[in-house]
Amino acid sequence: MTSTMQQPVELLRDRLEHAFAIHTNRLNELLARGSMADPTTFEARVEGARRGIADTALALRRMSEGTYGRCETCGSTIAWQRLEAVPHARRCAQCR
Ligand SMILES: [Zn+2]
Repeated sequence: MTSTMQQPVELLRDRLEHAFAIHTNRLNELLARGSMADPTTFEARVEGARRGIADTALALRRMSEGTYGRCETCGSTIAWQRLEAVPHARRCAQCR
């Protein structure tokens, strides 16, 4: 480890901002097209996009507040592997 290394959390911030933009675009597209394209999955896809936006927005807010990476339930530090796999994770693997 050298001091010149970028904070790994910044890489996750980039990924979260990217995911936030993708979910937002997807939701806008879905709402613009309406339920006509595929009425059977429309609600679920809108819901999925909304959840993605909420999850990533909350994670980005925790980053700015300095609480990112801390389990909401037990308060312990969430394993880096878990954050890398699920950057918006709010709980550690035990409390999930
Ligand atoms: Zn926990």
